Amino acid sequence: MNVADSERLSRALEKLGYNETNSVDDADLIVLNTCVVRQSAEDKALGRLNSLKQLKANNPNLIIALMGCLVGIKGNPALEKRYPWVDAFAAPSDPEAILRAIQEKHTAIFAPLSNVSDDDITGLLREEFGIHAGSLHAVSENLPIVLGCSHACAYCIIPSKRGKERSRDPKRIVEEAKTMVARGAKEIVLLGQIVDRYGLDRNDGVHLAELLKMVNDIDGLERIRFLTSHPNYFTMDMIKAVATLPKVMPHIELPIQAGDDGVLKAMRRGYTNAQYREIIARIRDLMPNVSIGTDIIVGFPGESEAAFEETYKLLADLKLDVAHLARYSPRPGTYSERLLVDDISAEEKMRRFRRLETLQKQVVGDINQRFLGQAVPVLFEGRAKGKWRGRSPHNRLVFVESNEHLLGQVRDVHIDWAGPWSLLGTLA
Ligand code: SAH
Repeated sequence: MNVADSERLSRALEKLGYNETNSVDDADLIVLNTCVVRQSAEDKALGRLNSLKQLKANNPNLIIALMGCLVGIKGNPALEKRYPWVDAFAAPSDPEAILRAIQEKHTAIFAPLSNVSDDDITGLLREEFGIHAGSLHAVSENLPIVLGCSHACAYCIIPSKRGKERSRDPKRIVEEAKTMVARGAKEIVLLGQIVDRYGLDRNDGVHLAELLKMVNDIDGLERIRFLTSHPNYFTMDMIKAVATLPKVMPHIELPIQAGDDGVLKAMRRGYTNAQYREIIARIRDLMPNVSIGTDIIVGFPGESEAAFEETYKLLADLKLDVAHLARYSPRPGTYSERLLVDDISAEEKMRRFRRLETLQKQVVGDINQRFLGQAVPVLFEGRAKGKWRGRSPHNRLVFVESNEHLLGQVRDVHIDWAGPWSLLGTLA
């Protein structure tokens, strides 16, 4: 979501006449977009922010803006007091404060604001900021469809930072998707904190399965992905949509967070281990080879050794394609931070993390062997270390050596080598 916000802001700024620089030392405007989902992310953001202060001394015209969850939807007066040299504090998905700072500080240097009509500036300030502007584009584009979140999982700070759930207008989403495709996008990734709740807060009857159909109809678009889903909302309609819509890729992100029912209850996730297994079974019933990703938090308050073993057993049994692992981090103001004791030591969290990591590496290494010798269609997104880099339908990273220009193409690749984190192949 932050990447999507940053991309959209880049376009809005480009429209205003800014050009990208390769170095912060050359910049007249620096926007630090921030995440606070775990303490480590917050520390990193503040560390980076502190490192920017000295640049102000060298360049008095420099605008430094802080954006995202460190600021939050309600603003952050304490932060503003602590960082008086920061020119703008912008909420997640909302660049208004940055554009105001530009109007105030850069008008003398940057003519563009006088070239841009008031209407355009207003447009840039709107919810879909920058989406129709600029020339930056990518083969795979992120498209937010649900902003905010109203779920209030016990550990999670996101709802308080991004505000309540707001599904965006399906007509606007389709229009934006078409703009992205016209600009060269081949893949669109629909984003939401709980993306499968799309439309439930609206009354036009368009839910995620219907929206996927609408996006699937866009000519020139090759692939659709969506993340992240919550098990409680992943209905039979959704399973059928993934199974039948040709452009929707066979990969589902469905976080479980923990395997133990007591921990799940304390996390306020709203399902049990058995119910999660049931949903996975239902999905695999219709799509035996579909790729499934999950998120896990180890060391949630009160997670006993036996409770952790439930998570281990679940991953060992289900053999999911991806597990995004995190160690529990108490976040200010959340239910678990206020009412539960962070009683699992850092060493123990690390030990549990490593055990799952080792297990998962084995599981995915084994699963990936099934691609060996096969031809899989790969969408090429760019280059890395002298090779072309792309993604298979199952969202595996695939590297290929070729002198052809493959960017934006979907080509069959013969898989010659399969490791846990990537595949290597040759053009078929
Ligand atoms: N909204 C999505 C994902 C949001 S954040 C969802 O509900 O699935 C991405 C992941 O960060 C979460 O799935 C969770 O595993 C992890 N996470 C969130 N809060 C955390 C915390 N306080 N400590 C550790 N990990 C956390």
